[in-house]
Order: sequence, then C-alpha cells, then structure tokens
Amino acid sequence: MEIHEAIDADQFVPFFQPQVSAADGRLVGAEVLLRWLHPARGLLLPGDFLQMAEQLRLVSDIDRIMMEKSHDALARWRAQGLIIPKISFNVSSGRMHDPGIVALARKMKSTDTQVTFELLESILVEEESDQFRMHLEMVREAGIEIEIDDFGSGHASIIGLTEIAPSALKIDKRLVDPVAPGSQSLSLVGAIVEIAETLGIETIAEGVENGEQAILLRDIGCSVLQGYHFARPLNEKQFFDYAYLPDRK
Ligand code: C2E
Ligand code: CA
Ligand code: CA
Ligand code: CA
Repeated sequence: MEIHEAIDADQFVPFFQPQVSAADGRLVGAEVLLRWLHPARGLLLPGDFLQMAEQLRLVSDIDRIMMEKSHDALARWRAQGLIIPKISFNVSSGRMHDPGIVALARKMKSTDTQVTFELLESILVEEESDQFRMHLEMVREAGIEIEIDDFGSGHASIIGLTEIAPSALKIDKRLVDPVAPGSQSLSLVGAIVEIAETLGIETIAEGVENGEQAILLRDIGCSVLQGYHFARPLNEKQFFDYAYLPDRK
C-alpha cells in the first residue's frame, strides 16, 4: 500500500504555521501540519490522504512521526539560537485512547518549548470514556497543554470546557472568515472571547487572511492570530527564516 511505503520511505514531514501575538506580532508558537512529499505528485495536503490513512489505521503512526520529527526540528533550531515558545500538534481522538500517547507526551516534553495538543471540539461531547479521561489527565501531568481546535463548529458545552480546562480555544476559520466591521461573526467571536476570559482560557483565531481581520480580532480581545495574512505553513528552513524576519506585520 502506498501510505505504508511512504512511511517507510520517510515521505511524511511536518510543516509549521506561525502563530503570532495579536498585540505586537511577536512569534509565539507554531502549529505542526502534516505534509506528504510525494515523489510523483508533489506536495500533498492532509485532505488528499488523511481519510485513507484513517481507514488503514495509520494516523497514529503518522502523528507519532510528526512529533518525533518536530522534536528534532526544535533541537536543530535551538542549536542555531531559535527557541519557539510553543509547538502544537493535531491529535485525533482515537489517538487519545491509545496508551502510547502518554509515553510519547512524556518524551516530547521539553523545558523551553510548551508542547500543546489540539483536540477537536467534538471530543468534548463524544469522549466521555474513563480511558480517554485518564489519558488526558496523564498527558496533562506530563506537562502538555490542551487546546480546543475548530471551536465554534461543534457542540462544546461550558461544563465540558470547565472539565477539560484547555489553555486555549482555537476559533474556527469559518467564524473568522466573515469577520468585518459590524458583522455578526465579529460579535460572536467577541462573545467567545468573553466566555474564554471568564474561564481563564486564551483565544487563538485561525485562518486570518487579511490585515483588517487581524486588527478587528485584536481589538476584540483575541490574543493569538494564525493565518495566511501572517504566513502559510512553512517547511523547517522557511520557518527558521520567518522567525528572524524584522517586521512580521
Ligand atoms: P486544522 O487543524 O483546522 O488546520 C488548519 C488548516 O487551515 C490547515 O490546513 C492550514 O494549512 C489551513 N490554514 C491556515 N491558515 C489559513 C488561512 O489563512 N486560509 C486558509 N484558507 N487556510 C488556512 P491543512 O494543513 O491542509 O490541514 C487540514 C487538516 O488536517 C487540519 O485542520 C487537521 O485537522 C488535519 N491535520 C493536519 N496535520 C495533521 C497531523 O499531523 N495529524 C492529524 N491527526 N491531523 C492533521
Ligand atoms: Ca489544528
Ligand atoms: Ca482548526
Ligand atoms: Ca479543521
């Protein structure tokens, strides 16, 4: 099978999308996004193959590869003087049922970069098993923070949020896209920020594509921004160069 071969041939690599402080454009983190360097078809996105990988039950393997390779990238950046405050991984809900996730979390933990797992909002309602909760607790004890991905697209409850106690909510791109002066989506994002602040949770807007959105989101209280307006997902070398750009806005 092609995906099996791609794993053996080392064709899955992490790309890194910068996250910046809304206040001053400072680089505050990176989200790891999976890419397949296909020898014939070029650079493939998760949408092209993730479902197939799921059917083959290979997502856990691929996620582990992403973490190990990112860990190595962090070490190489560090050796060149670059320390990223935070690195975030997309973790599938299935992965949280696998006891291996705890060992991996412990291995990933580093002293100067906060490791974060992004879990989908749907996890808050779907995952009520004891095993899931136990692994979540152990991952947290290993020093990993949790962020809720695609927030606003699922059915998270306030109670669910207080139980999971994530460090941040990532506001879904579909809520961010229509943000414009006086728009309903801007008010909605503002309401989410207020709830998050009440719970002591940070907010990250994803899919920020223009400067107007960036300013509106900053003014409404989103603390971190991510999107093409700042940078696309970058390979290891590009990310290193981006980190040293003098003006990031
Ligand atoms: P996601 O976690 O919601 O990731 C955000 C997606 O939006 C990424 O697509 C990113 O490239 C894209 N994006 C970021 N900023 C912008 C923007 O300003 N405009 C637009 N139009 N798009 C933007 P990508 O890389 O294709 O990833 C798609 C999904 O695949 C991710 O959605 C995530 O659910 C999944 N995924 C990615 N990497 C991994 C991984 O290592 N493991 C697992 N399990 N899932 C992954
Ligand atoms: Ca994500
Ligand atoms: Ca997302
Ligand atoms: Ca998504």
